[in-house]
Amino acid sequence: MRSLIIILMLVSGTVFCQNRDGYEYVRNSMVDDQIAARGISDQATLKAMRKVPRHLFVPPSYIKEAYSDRPLPIGYSQTISQPFVVAYMTELVKPAKGKKALEIGTGSGYQAAILAEIVDTVYTIEIVPELAKEAATRLKILGYKNIIAKYGDGYKGWPEHGPFDIIIVTAAADHIPQPLKDQLANGGRLIMPVGNPATVQELILLTKRNGKISEQRLETVWFVPLKRLR
Ligand code: SAH
Repeated sequence: MRSLIIILMLVSGTVFCQNRDGYEYVRNSMVDDQIAARGISDQATLKAMRKVPRHLFVPPSYIKEAYSDRPLPIGYSQTISQPFVVAYMTELVKPAKGKKALEIGTGSGYQAAILAEIVDTVYTIEIVPELAKEAATRLKILGYKNIIAKYGDGYKGWPEHGPFDIIIVTAAADHIPQPLKDQLANGGRLIMPVGNPATVQELILLTKRNGKISEQRLETVWFVPLKRLR
């Protein structure tokens, strides 16, 4: 009996250690100070932001800044979004179990991982081949079996897997691509930065009900431009 208790203690100790990555404190502070304090209240979003190891989504030279209040470079002139912006966009699309999401602009894979903590399946598309490959490898190592990532031009969406309850576009353009509007499910929500891709944009939230789309204009934001494959 005594040895059984010791074995159980050792096993639970190992599991406990494996779940800890040394960044829990700074990650929880990020959520408390930058996200909850600024009005994000969706419990699923907050829980996901407390769990996903953001420091593993940035280049090694930026690990120390991974939980700071700003976007960071991820190479190829692209960025991982500021934590608050990720949380804000996630809350607005109302993620929940049973839903299917599409993300355009995988980048580091961080936004995809946050969504994958909540919804059933995340499809994500990245146009820079090196980033697409890096993110797919990272997400696989981290064990995200419900993220399906591919290289390509997300302008056209991913019709084979639509319609989607959630569409998040993390790159800016002067309009919302029609194929994405078409692939939005009834009751679905799409969020995208729309405006001048070279300067600032407005976050636009589309909601589809009975086939009709309504539009809400939200915060001013700055995102990298949505590119096109020729
Ligand atoms: N969501 C990312 C950050 C995205 S930055 C994260 O969590 O890290 C925007 C990304 O969109 C960049 O990686 C850029 O290469 C990609 N992108 C730009 N145009 C695209 C397009 N047409 N299709 C797919 N990805 C695109």
